[in-house]
Amino acid sequence: MAASHAARPARPVHRLALWALALAVALTLAGFAGRWAGDAAMSKAQLAGEQRLDTYAVSLENLLSKYDFLPRTLELNKDVLALLQHPGDEALRGEVNTYLEQLNRQSGSTTIYIVNLQGVTQAASNWRSPNSFVGDNVAFRPYVRDALRGKPGGFYGVGTTSGEPGYFFAHGIYRDGRMLGVATVKVNIERLEQGWMQSADKVLLADAYGVVFLSSVPEWKYHTLAPLPPAALRELAASRQYFSHELTPLDMRTLRQMNGGTATVALPQAGDVAVLSQSRSLAPRQWRFVYLSDLSGARNSARAAFVFALLLQALLLMLVLYGLQRRRARADLQRANDELELKVAERTASLHQMAQDLRQAQSGLVQAGKMAVLGQMAAGITHELNQPLTALRTMADNARVLIERGRLDEAKSNLGTVSQLVGRMGVLTGQLRQFARKADTSLTAVPVAAAITAALFLVERRVEQERVNFRMAVRDQHVHALCDSNRLEQVLVNLFTNALDAMADCATRQLTVSVERDGAWALVGVADTGPGIPAEILTHLFEPFFTTKPQGKGLGLGLAISEQIVREFGGELRAEVTAAGGARFVIALPLVEQETI
Ligand code: ADP
Repeated sequence: MAASHAARPARPVHRLALWALALAVALTLAGFAGRWAGDAAMSKAQLAGEQRLDTYAVSLENLLSKYDFLPRTLELNKDVLALLQHPGDEALRGEVNTYLEQLNRQSGSTTIYIVNLQGVTQAASNWRSPNSFVGDNVAFRPYVRDALRGKPGGFYGVGTTSGEPGYFFAHGIYRDGRMLGVATVKVNIERLEQGWMQSADKVLLADAYGVVFLSSVPEWKYHTLAPLPPAALRELAASRQYFSHELTPLDMRTLRQMNGGTATVALPQAGDVAVLSQSRSLAPRQWRFVYLSDLSGARNSARAAFVFALLLQALLLMLVLYGLQRRRARADLQRANDELELKVAERTASLHQMAQDLRQAQSGLVQAGKMAVLGQMAAGITHELNQPLTALRTMADNARVLIERGRLDEAKSNLGTVSQLVGRMGVLTGQLRQFARKADTSLTAVPVAAAITAALFLVERRVEQERVNFRMAVRDQHVHALCDSNRLEQVLVNLFTNALDAMADCATRQLTVSVERDGAWALVGVADTGPGIPAEILTHLFEPFFTTKPQGKGLGLGLAISEQIVREFGGELRAEVTAAGGARFVIALPLVEQETI
């Protein structure tokens, strides 16, 4: 049964284990929720990063392609060709310098210059400025070298003269299929950085070696994504691509490598927390865009989801516990109620049974008592009837003789006595019949004095025979009690008989019956001058079958039945010892007021 199962207390160790398990499950679920939310935020960041990378790559390409053609157009300028053929012509140099200066201004590039086959600058747009390139040997610069070898190219580097970074476009200048020199255009692409700095995210542009040359974080510039091998360092130093910058690594640690160029990384220079790194290679220059997205938003939403899931589970747990508690309390209450009802039902049933048993026992006792009294009285009654019968026969015989002798008056008198005797016998048998009848319970107003007289009639012979002095002390002849006359007589007969029995061996034998009022009670006293009742007997007096009389003489039922009868009337029977030492029984009966009769 569920209730008994719930009522059994779990062992503390079990309960602890259960809680630990619940906590583990809750933490795991919350962990999943946090992971899920974190992943969702991460893929959102990833998508945004891809888009940013696309935008940046396109804008870079746009910028560079704008200048791609510029070096080649210089081939079309006759003065440029002439200068390369006649390097000593200063007037021509002046022409070309001015031309380059104008072209540079119009195209928005940083510098334009012409280099001869030896790598010496012949003319430059910045010819007026103190760090004019004119006369510089730039043969060591890779883009110049490549272009001189017939490989036009692009190159990002920091200018060796100006110290300013820029993208260098270089292209050979040919005439009739013969190379005369190289045209170079330097473009400032650092302005791209301005756009990158606006967002919280970070953008890096690194070259094929992994050297960061554009960055939304200025401090990261001219550092490498990873430590460079010595050969690469040597190469870079030779080309002076990054001039005098020391190319130390950024210490970027990869935390989790994901698909393609995506990973989570940590940088000591950026708080050393995980950031999302996405990179994109830009052919043909072999550059690499790196986009670092701030993941604090993702972390926050993961944390929020974790806490939320935990709270939700705690709430659910509380709800479940509350429900269980309520159910248990209800079950307890129901059980207590059921038990109580059962107990009440049991008690009621046993009370009913007891009442029934009592009634049965009582009515049995009353009936048995009557039989006992009847038995006891049978001898007396036989005796009582025998005497008048003998007298009747004698008188009848006498009457016949008297009639035969003609003494009619005497015969008439004899017959009168016969008639009287027969009448008296009739009364006696009537009383007996009445006594034997099972009492009905209807109570009426009974004249107490008359009941005493009727009872006395039944013991009259014994009173006379044993020479008992009988005294009626009735102050009020009209006292009526609410009872049943037959049964009151039965009680009185019993008390009289007991009194006569008690006084059998006494010198003085006086039986006193009194009637008096006491408030709402009619008190009937039956006192004798017998030996009285010792205290130890007094307490057992009304118990059934309690008797001190020899066997066959008394059943010990008389007082028990009498007491019961009086109680049925709503009255009380009690015993006491008189001042003279005899016994006195008092029947208290409900008094019926005179007016109501
Ligand atoms: P029984 O008369 O059959 O013994 P009762 O119930 O009438 O039964 O009486 C119980 C006992 O009470 C008697 O045996 C007797 O010892 C005592 N008793 C009753 N009436 C008197 C009395 N008037 N004086 C002394 N003892 C009495």
